[in-house]
Amino acid sequence: MAEKHETATAETELDTARHFLRQWIEEDLAQGKNDGTVVTRFPPEPNGWIHIGHAKAVWVDFGMAQLFGGRCHLRMDDTNPSKESEDFVEQLKRDITWLGYQWDSFYYACDMFETMWAIAEELIQRGQAYVCELSQEEWKAYRGVPTEPGKFSPYRDRSPEENLALFRKMREGAFAEGTHCLRAKIDMASPNIHFRDPVIYRIVDLPHYRTGTQWHCYPMYDFAHPIEDALEGVTHSMCTLEFEVHRPLYDWVIDRLAEQGRLVVRSGKTIRPQQREFARLNLTYTVMSKRLLRQLVEEGVVDGWDDPRMPTVAGMRRRGYTAAAIRDLCERTGISKYKSLTDLALLEWCVRDDLNRIATRRMAVLNPVKVIIDNLPEGEELVAEVPNNPEDESAGKRRIVATRELWIDRDDFMEVPVKKFFRVTVGNEVRLRGLCLFTCTSIVKDAAGEVVEIHGTYDPESRGGNPADGRKVKGTIHWVSVKYGKPFEVRLYDRLFAMEDPMACPSGNFLDALNPESMRTVQAYGEPLLEQAAPGEHYQFERTGYFTPDVHASKPGAPVFNRTVTLKDSFKK
Ligand code: ATP
Ligand code: MG
Repeated sequence: MAEKHETATAETELDTARHFLRQWIEEDLAQGKNDGTVVTRFPPEPNGWIHIGHAKAVWVDFGMAQLFGGRCHLRMDDTNPSKESEDFVEQLKRDITWLGYQWDSFYYACDMFETMWAIAEELIQRGQAYVCELSQEEWKAYRGVPTEPGKFSPYRDRSPEENLALFRKMREGAFAEGTHCLRAKIDMASPNIHFRDPVIYRIVDLPHYRTGTQWHCYPMYDFAHPIEDALEGVTHSMCTLEFEVHRPLYDWVIDRLAEQGRLVVRSGKTIRPQQREFARLNLTYTVMSKRLLRQLVEEGVVDGWDDPRMPTVAGMRRRGYTAAAIRDLCERTGISKYKSLTDLALLEWCVRDDLNRIATRRMAVLNPVKVIIDNLPEGEELVAEVPNNPEDESAGKRRIVATRELWIDRDDFMEVPVKKFFRVTVGNEVRLRGLCLFTCTSIVKDAAGEVVEIHGTYDPESRGGNPADGRKVKGTIHWVSVKYGKPFEVRLYDRLFAMEDPMACPSGNFLDALNPESMRTVQAYGEPLLEQAAPGEHYQFERTGYFTPDVHASKPGAPVFNRTVTLKDSFKK
């Protein structure tokens, strides 16, 4: 991926992005709508852990508020009791904070249940809603298709008194699920199917994580969401494209709230929320729906919601992705009205770009084979000082110490070298990173024919690896002292799915698209300083990739490393 090109494209996209939602808000402000302030909200349902798609919405909602010096609310859209919990609420808060955002106010939609109920009762009293007893199948059949008008429900003309009595019974739990619902009385002939007397309350006989068994029926999203926005005084309500066709219904509910005198008034101005839609973020090689992520967790395919292979914000954090890299991806993909699929490689590029700036450099050998420097006597040491991060002078330097026996990576040796192999092979001179030049002279194999020792000599005049005679040495090898190196467990993560779109798996089951090599564990040796590595820190194992101590498996003095991403895109399709 050419860096220059990538940046140029991203900037162009960003410009368009700025135009689309930004223009909308700028025009509103210019027209003097509302009270001149911008209030947005991020409204997740606390029924799972947020993923990178939600991070995009967080970036849009909080970002737009920031841009206009406005406020952004964090709201739990908890109007469906089935899978919600307080644990999810707490996790949501942690993840959003980690992403770098702070909400100005926090709300639970369920705290508005009483008001929503009162609004619904007032609709009934005004003849704008009725209790319907059609079954779901009947209701669908009556609703019809967009090209022909639907049919009136036989319950459409009940009196407000009768409706009110039935509606209250629904609340008390007098009826079974699916037998009764409250429908808004709008237009059965509308070409917009969502206008054909939509259901606004349904019976759900499940306890709610906060309101317990107090309620037996709950408001539908299309009714609840505009009310939540209105009661909070939200001015600009941004959501994903699939809600575009619901927008007229959103506006209908806002009109009813205006009629009922329930819109918030600030500085003498009535606040009328409006909705606009943008395309969701979709990524290759993953799935992004809480339902499917839940399935991965519940079936034990992954090690929890924060498994480092999960597209959840917590999984990415545990893997070693940074919040800055995630925000960078949001920025580079921009805000658009068109559905698109973003290559996971772009996210990985953003991660490498950030980690290259901030990661501490260390040497570690993941697939060790022993090197013996025959002309370095036992007990003698070669010492050098090297930068902790060549991109950041303030990160300082560290001492590295070599002894007679070293570990190097088996992949850096070839008995019969292929063309352009400049690394260790008998007779070839290489650079031991930061230290000196070394020439392999012979190898020792075990009975199975596997190389177990690589012998050679170092050039004492080549300290630092840059000889005075200026001779060219192409290969540079990282190494770890056998005497001082420490053993660590390293988890090598790769993409969770082997298919770009797991949902397109020919068997019809996305689990069949799993990458069987999405995690491998190896025993590695690393510089002794790595012993002090703690979760939350980022390392570049030189020439190998970026790594971070795992937050669950690491112990003080004994980190277990997760591979965040390789240095280069090496994924085999
Ligand atoms: P899921 O299907 O993953 O459960 P959801 O949309 O049902 O997603 P919510 O918790 O209701 O999850 O979503 C909160 C907000 O995040 C919504 O405004 C929604 O539009 C937005 N969102 C969800 N997925 C994406 C995505 N892939 N890209 C951008 N925004 C998203
Ligand atoms: Mg949802």
